[in-house]
Order: sequence, then C-alpha cells, then structure tokens
Amino acid sequence: MARGFDLETEVEIDLEDVLTGTTADVEFTRADVCDTCTGSGAAPGSKPVRCETCAGQGVVIQTGLGGMFRMQTVCPACHGRRETVKDKCPACRGRGRVPKSRKLEVSIPAGIRDGQAVRVPGEGEPPAPEASPSGAGVRGDLHVVVRVSEHEIFKREGDHLVLEMPISFTQAALGAHLELPTLEKPASVIVPKGSQHGAVFRVPGAGLPALRSGRRGDLVMVTRIEVPKKLSEKQERLLRELAEEEKAGGILPETHGFWSKIKDFLGR
Ligand SMILES: [Zn+2]
Ligand SMILES: [Zn+2]
Repeated sequence: MARGFDLETEVEIDLEDVLTGTTADVEFTRADVCDTCTGSGAAPGSKPVRCETCAGQGVVIQTGLGGMFRMQTVCPACHGRRETVKDKCPACRGRGRVPKSRKLEVSIPAGIRDGQAVRVPGEGEPPAPEASPSGAGVRGDLHVVVRVSEHEIFKREGDHLVLEMPISFTQAALGAHLELPTLEKPASVIVPKGSQHGAVFRVPGAGLPALRSGRRGDLVMVTRIEVPKKLSEKQERLLRELAEEEKAGGILPETHGFWSKIKDFLGR
C-alpha cells in the first residue's frame, strides 16, 4: 500500500514542562489532497485522460545501442500517474496537492530531553499523487522534535538540575541554613562551617524525572562565594580587624585614603 512522507516540526518547552510533562500546540503545514479536484489535478467538470506517452502504463521502455539495452523508466509525461490532465485544476495547478496548515495538540512526556522527538502516527503527508491521486493509503508520521529552552537559574545535566548558588564569605565561613529554589517548593540545605567555593550539595529527588522510569534526578547545588563590591564603613572596619587577626600581609590601606593619595600624587 502506498505510504506518504513523514514530516518533522519543532516545539519549544521549558524545564517546568519537562518536570510534569505537557501538551503542546503544534502548527505545521503539509501537502494535502486538493479539495477542489479530490487529488486528480483536473479542473472541475473535466477528467484526467489516459497518458498518450506511456499508453497508461506509467512507465516507458527506452532502448539503446540498436536494441541491445532495454531500460524501463518512469514516464516523463505523467510521472507515473498513468493519466495526464489537459484542463488543470486552478486550486492546485494540476498537482492534486495543496499546502494545508494543521494544528494538533501533542502530548509531551515528562523527562524528555532536548532534541528528542515525539512521533505522531498518521499525521504526515498522504501518499504522493503519482502513487495514489486520491490520497488513499497510509499517511506518513509527524515527528515533533522537542527543544528545551535554557532555564534562568538551573542547568540540566541529564536528569539532574545544577544550581550555582551565590553565598557570602561569612555564610561559607560560619555556616548557613539556605533556602534553595527548585522547580517545585524551596528546599533547605545546611552549608556547614568552613565550606569552600565550589562545594557541592545535593537535594536527592529534586531533579527531573527519567523519561522511562520516572525516577527523579537530584538538585545539585554548587556554592559560589561572592566578594562584596562595596563595603559600609562598619563592614570595612570589621574586615580590617579580621585581616589583622589573620595577620594577612599586603592589605592595601583604606580605599578612600589610598586613591586620594594617588590623586594628590598625580596632581602634584
Ligand atoms: Zn486541485
Ligand atoms: Zn505517462
């Protein structure tokens, strides 16, 4: 039985959709049977006629080298349709197919990854007019390629979600109780005293579900220690005390004083 071509289209979803699964509205265009001529390609009131070139066979025999070779090829006049159209259908200009737009609701399973496709059977094109003018036969399939858009704060690593979490030097040094964003409700994590930049903490099961098993990945939090760009007077004083306590060498003198000295020096 004649079968039509498969089609491919794309749909974009976000990580929240990957978590729960979703239905996506998909709009695409496919070559479909012309309603005006029901696929024959002949203008209303006229009919296709038997192809004269191939005598309705759809193929022609070509001979070469004085009859030594005989080759069967698709008839160049009717392209295998066995019939030709004298008076062409105005809607499809004799092709029997017109582009038609179609809208579908496609169910996207939870856990799907970027670039994977959902197959929708029978939503592709009808068999080509050469094989089946009326389109009778089996339609191809529609492949909906899923694109997962990048998330503002989470990076996806397989079924895990990676979160780079900015924490302050004092939180890292003294320990802190953090509320982490997840795709659902916030999760709490204890960052122990003396945690380093790049330390990794996991919230098991707060990642994405695996496509087949539904088993959830983890939320993986990586600390990023942020240094304040501006200090209040009090903060600066306290940090200087800390530096003295640490016997940290080479600490620059107070910013304001330092720059005014430079300015004075240049202005001299
Ligand atoms: Zn038509
Ligand atoms: Zn022909």
